[in-house]
Amino acid sequence: MTRSLSIFGATGSVGLSTLDLVRQHRDKYRIVALTANGNAADLAKLAREFDAEIAVVADETAYAALVEALAGSSTKAAAGPVALVEAAQMGADWTMAAIVGCAGLPPTMAAIEAGKTVALANKEALVSAGDLMMAAVERSGATLLPVDSEHNAIFQCLAGGHIDQVRKITLTASGGPFRTFSLDQMRAVTPAQAVAHPNWDMGAKISVDSATMMNKGLELIEAHHLFPVGLDRLDIVVHPQSVIHSMVEYVDRSTLAQLGSPDMRIPIASTLAWPARIETNSEPLDLARISKLEFEAPDLVRFPALQLARTSAEQGGAAPAILNAANEVAVAAFLNGQIGFLDIANVVSSTLDGYSPNAPHSLEHLFSIDAAARSHAKSLMEKLPHAA
Ligand code: NDP
Repeated sequence: MTRSLSIFGATGSVGLSTLDLVRQHRDKYRIVALTANGNAADLAKLAREFDAEIAVVADETAYAALVEALAGSSTKAAAGPVALVEAAQMGADWTMAAIVGCAGLPPTMAAIEAGKTVALANKEALVSAGDLMMAAVERSGATLLPVDSEHNAIFQCLAGGHIDQVRKITLTASGGPFRTFSLDQMRAVTPAQAVAHPNWDMGAKISVDSATMMNKGLELIEAHHLFPVGLDRLDIVVHPQSVIHSMVEYVDRSTLAQLGSPDMRIPIASTLAWPARIETNSEPLDLARISKLEFEAPDLVRFPALQLARTSAEQGGAAPAILNAANEVAVAAFLNGQIGFLDIANVVSSTLDGYSPNAPHSLEHLFSIDAAARSHAKSLMEKLPHAA
């Protein structure tokens, strides 16, 4: 029996890795919807190759280009945020949520509300709307499968175990490209240096998040929602080789780890076939060649984003949404050359200090908090000495 799939963020790094696996197992999967933001040309190419029922661009100005690029194919074209949500409601058996940023939240929530299986890569949506999202999973009976390599590792290590027998969960972090940089060196880094991750090939935003280690902070909040063992049982260790993707220690002091090459196709494959397994073309793990695995404690002084995220998770309420919104805005400004690398965490910290609304009680409320946090962050950035 074929499984029907929809891929949100199909033209991105995770989306393309997912389609690469589908390409390898064409007989097992059928594509319902593929989406992008504005990249109509690549989206149309993918829609033709995989014979998608519908292709959706979030950016309405890309609609004409999409229609033209799909001319003569059987794929329907659509555009705009409402079309994105409608595509998520089409009832695919399995949906990949791989839009970057909080922009992915509405279709992700719609896919969850549809009660099927959602493979979640879009960490910003879970960080921002964690309580609302987990309540929707509970209500709809949807199956939420974590795609992020760390959470996927934890999910696999928990198979057959019981969460109430977990003593500690340890998320591993590569430490990013600036792991050994001094603060002075970090002050001067460029966007090109920040997106050049030593182990993983990823989109620009998550690459910068890895460089500031905000990515690990966001993952801590993700883990807090996905694996409710309590924040004091969630730990982070820097592991520069990115071979161990995370670990679960049980009460008997037995620790289970999941290992693999740093290739997103491996965790994606585990969600695509779950609860079965499918083959991938990924590199096998050659431990003799890697020869040593190293570990060190994270440095909270050079990477303050880690503490900001932990404090936000402890505060709960609107804090994680504000953290995420300010970070999205600051990362975009850094990538555009408007602020420096170290300004990113400062902007997030000052936004959190200057804005403390009540906990979001609905998605609409959450979006208003998100929008206000973004405008706080932008006005803070305008006051920075070297803001362009
Ligand atoms: P990319 O930047 O490579 O791709 C993002 C995708 O989202 C593209 O298809 C893009 O379309 C689409 N998109 C961007 N903005 C919008 C918007 N406003 N509305 C609708 N669609 C939009 O990102 P990644 O694939 O690297 O990451 C995707 C998500 O997965 C992120 O949340 C990231 O944190 C998470 N993740 C990524 C990993 C990785 O290895 N890359 C690992 C673990 C998690 P277009 O091409 O048209 O711009």
